[in-house]
Amino acid sequence: MTVALETIRSLRAVTPQNTIIEAQHVGQRFTADNGTELTVFDNISFNLYEGEIVAILGRSGAGKSTFLRALAGLVKPTSGTVKYRGKALTGPNPGIALVFQTFALMPWLTVQDNVELGLKARGVPRAERTKLALDAIDMIGLDGFESAYPKELSGGMRQRVGIARAFVTRPEVVFADEPTGNLDSKTTKEVMHMIRGFAKRFHQTIVLVSHDPEMTEYADRIVTLIDGRIVSNVENQVKAEIDAAPYIE
Ligand code: ADP
Repeated sequence: MTVALETIRSLRAVTPQNTIIEAQHVGQRFTADNGTELTVFDNISFNLYEGEIVAILGRSGAGKSTFLRALAGLVKPTSGTVKYRGKALTGPNPGIALVFQTFALMPWLTVQDNVELGLKARGVPRAERTKLALDAIDMIGLDGFESAYPKELSGGMRQRVGIARAFVTRPEVVFADEPTGNLDSKTTKEVMHMIRGFAKRFHQTIVLVSHDPEMTEYADRIVTLIDGRIVSNVENQVKAEIDAAPYIE
């Protein structure tokens, strides 16, 4: 079932209507305090299409996070443009939510309050917020931990909360920058199944950034970045067969 659905998606025509983000000739330079200039990349063009999971792979320092921040509208590229739904970004990209390597949970808030953060920021009324958060907590297998604080959770559990917080607002796109960078291999598997499960269940689009080639297993498309250049951009032929149910061992 999953395979058939994904095959249909991968064969779907690519049109302007299903292009979510378009980066055209994007460049990013930084000037160090001593005046030396660093060009992280000078001409990247890349399109992100609805419903796909793209892995951007490359060694540390290749420019992956900087590129992701440009797509997220968190840095303004020094050249080129980034468009979201056909409009050039002038600030944070409204279509995305982020999952961080460091989890970035608020230590003074409970699991439920952390998951509700994005909903609160969007003005979702309390009763609706609670319902959505409790559903999401259920989906990440942390039923019973609603009132726990991040320090009481393992790294894998914290990242599951980070995933629930990102997906609960049903953003068009989730950006995950080294989401398993602080996790062991068993937990990595669990967290990546969860991300892929959420994405396929809610038809969401994901950009994963990682230095870990194992991440390719979870992607529909793999973009390889070396020294600020896209050296390959290929469809994944051997993606994991993961159904829409979140995976918890
Ligand atoms: P990756 O995510 O692939 O590890 P980054 O995008 O984090 O790579 O970094 C690429 C290069 O850009 C590195 O050399 C890094 O030191 C540099 N860099 C990133 N952000 C800044 C910044 N704000 N100021 C100066 N240099 C930066």
